Amino acid sequence: MSLTICLSHDVDRTRKTFQYFSHSVKAVLKLDFRSFFYQFGSVFYENPYWQFEKIIEIENSYNLKSTFFFLNETYPFKPFAIKTWPISVGYYNIKSKKISGIIQKLDQQGWEIGLHGSYNSYKDFELLQKEKSDLEEIISHRILGIRQHFLNMNSETWALQKKAGFLYDSSLGFRDKAGYKNEKTDIFEPESLPGFFVVPMSLMDMTVMNKKDPWGETEKLLDFAEKNKAIVVANWHHRVFNPKEFPNYPDIYIKLIKEGKKRNATFLTIGEYVQNQIINRSGKI
Ligand SMILES: [Zn+2]
Repeated sequence: MSLTICLSHDVDRTRKTFQYFSHSVKAVLKLDFRSFFYQFGSVFYENPYWQFEKIIEIENSYNLKSTFFFLNETYPFKPFAIKTWPISVGYYNIKSKKISGIIQKLDQQGWEIGLHGSYNSYKDFELLQKEKSDLEEIISHRILGIRQHFLNMNSETWALQKKAGFLYDSSLGFRDKAGYKNEKTDIFEPESLPGFFVVPMSLMDMTVMNKKDPWGETEKLLDFAEKNKAIVVANWHHRVFNPKEFPNYPDIYIKLIKEGKKRNATFLTIGEYVQNQIINRSGKI
């Protein structure tokens, strides 16, 4: 069996907010004035974090579709707890006209829509249920999959996700490197949760982009996957498709697609992969 690659995008933020300030400060501290002027000046440009059209264009040009995980964050804003700002500030409202519009457009054109479970939802059944139904209301049909924000998980998460009606989770992965957490290299049903599937995520943008040789790391993962018949689930966050903000991120993504094509990989959404596996398994019985 040849290589299978599932491309996906966690949609954390669609609008740049406090990052104008925090990134400007970082640039000054690094004495990187070019970056400072860009960061400071970009307040006046069009929104640098809105990258849906770019992703659509790239994926259409290679005739493939991916999975978008949308976040419905409700973590309370505590102005005096600065540490909580990154998990409470600058998120979007999925019910707004602009966001629900792009979700519907992606869904109608064949992309998969999944839930990016909010920061605390991994341990909160009601939140999972509400976030799922909010998203389903927008696209008027069932969603199958979830990936937790920050890959937050505990021993109960999969059971809660299943109870909330999800078919699969794709949160099992490393936050700091490419590879297969718990040596899970393919889809599996967690013990005592028949009918619920975990599809491990093995490649995330910053976990390779932070390394000295991002493409080398990516290739290594592809080599391993090919050799071991492992599934490749890649997560390139939606906002990283602006090279001014995230230099080389889109290039490595495109290179991954090209290399996959060269290796005759099959590109599927995660939902399609799960459904194919279910059909294959039932065929075997
Ligand atoms: Zn996230």
